[in-house]
Amino acid sequence: MKKRTFLKLGSAAIASPVLGPLLAWAAPEKLKNWAGNVEYSTENLYSAKSLEQVRDFIKQQHRLKVLGTRHCFNRIADSTQQFLSLKEMDQVVALDTAARTVTVESGVTYGRLSPYLDGQGWALHNLASLPHISVAGAITTATHGSGEKNGNLSTAVAGLEIVNAAGEVVQLSRQKNGDNFFGAVVGLGVLGAISKVTLQVQPSFQMRQYVYDNLPLHELKDHFDAIESTAYSVSLFTDWQKQRVNEVWLKCRMDQSPAFDAPPEFYGAKKAIRNVHPIIELSAENCTEQMGVPGPWYERLPHFKMGFTPSAGKELQSEYFVPRRHAVEAILAVERLRDQIGPHLLITEIRTIAADNFWMSPCYKQDSVTIHFTWKQDWPAVSKLLPAIEKELAPFYPRPHWGKLFSIPPAQLHAAYRKLPEFIDLARKFDPQGKFHNEFLDTNIFGPDA
Ligand SMILES: Cc1cc2nc3c(=O)[nH]c(=O)nc-3n(C[C@H](O)[C@H](O)[C@H](O)COP(=O)(O)OP(=O)(O)OC[C@H]3O[C@@H](n4cnc5c(N)ncnc54)[C@H](O)[C@@H]3O)c2cc1C
Repeated sequence: MKKRTFLKLGSAAIASPVLGPLLAWAAPEKLKNWAGNVEYSTENLYSAKSLEQVRDFIKQQHRLKVLGTRHCFNRIADSTQQFLSLKEMDQVVALDTAARTVTVESGVTYGRLSPYLDGQGWALHNLASLPHISVAGAITTATHGSGEKNGNLSTAVAGLEIVNAAGEVVQLSRQKNGDNFFGAVVGLGVLGAISKVTLQVQPSFQMRQYVYDNLPLHELKDHFDAIESTAYSVSLFTDWQKQRVNEVWLKCRMDQSPAFDAPPEFYGAKKAIRNVHPIIELSAENCTEQMGVPGPWYERLPHFKMGFTPSAGKELQSEYFVPRRHAVEAILAVERLRDQIGPHLLITEIRTIAADNFWMSPCYKQDSVTIHFTWKQDWPAVSKLLPAIEKELAPFYPRPHWGKLFSIPPAQLHAAYRKLPEFIDLARKFDPQGKFHNEFLDTNIFGPDA
């Protein structure tokens, strides 16, 4: 069956507040990102309701940035002039069951899209730790989940609709637009406003999630590959203390064999006897169900439940991608900094991600392991630690997460992205005058080293 009608999300899913088209930011507080560590440089925010409004607004502006759900920790989304929000453009446009794709308006969050898809019998291949983020904001920064055979969330993209700086609508598809498509999907918000996204779907599946406590570091060192291949998605949480990984989260698909039989012990770690939060002091109520209870993919792949605060809330985040083949060396390199890191850390998460073909993806042509840090919200302390971590990781050519905090200099970033010159050419075609640039992008992407 091929549905081409405009498909409404369920009534529970459309209960979010509706904003007027010209939104003067009415909140008493300044416009900030989700974590509150970035106060944006303008409060001018226009909320579009239709493609025509997006086009008209872009044509009128000299400089603007499109804002998603504001979950980035750095200034990649910042603007000094104008923001355009597509939050109200969050409908499912078409579910094409023959092609196994769903086309959505780009402001939709995974938390709204996923239950709809599951209700129709379909699933996405993976999700991030939280479902609260917009599809456009996630794919443009190469947001990822875990699983050594799973590409980041951008790898599900089959097509994009982008409104360029002239207000023209550009369609790109994996099948028809080869190179430009691979340049545009992880576009860092520089090509224009992504108005629609077509995502590959697969038949819905059920999962079980298990947690194991206290995996000895020497077991991880000796059995990293075996541990990572145990489940569809594996996350390792550590505070870097006591030579151990505090929690191992195994997310297992129930349609894959052999099934994980959940023994009481896993490489020396003990099976948890209750649901836990990655930050052990926090309530597991915010977390997806564990203890092997079967459930749909979208209630097991993220760590945090929609409708609840993900992670800690008041925090900072950094994350580095290194080639998967250096995983153990890189982990041990960071572990050497345990005494410096410890006082400022809430938790570290280690994940694996499959290689992809997106020019600006940190996983471009490279199976990767990510070492992530959820920090206490103390920027003076964290800003001193980042160069120390980056120095330890330097032998492995780390690439930072585009949406998180880092201090890697632009020249080093440019050296890590061999397709950067082509990406800059593509950006100039979409936006010759730099309408979608900002200071972060001018420094890290378009600077003199590029
Ligand atoms: C608690 C928490 C947990 C997280 N967990 C993970 C995780 O598990 N894995 C991971 O990889 N990341 C994770 N992140 C980071 C997050 O996924 C990224 O920051 C992502 O980009 C957030 O999307 P957003 O919609 O909030 O983007 P925003 O922060 O609003 O914007 C990010 C970028 O996207 C651009 N953009 C947004 N919408 C559009 C559009 N329609 N058209 C063009 N450009 C657009 C913006 O201009 C900007 O450049 C987490 C963040 C938080 C706060």
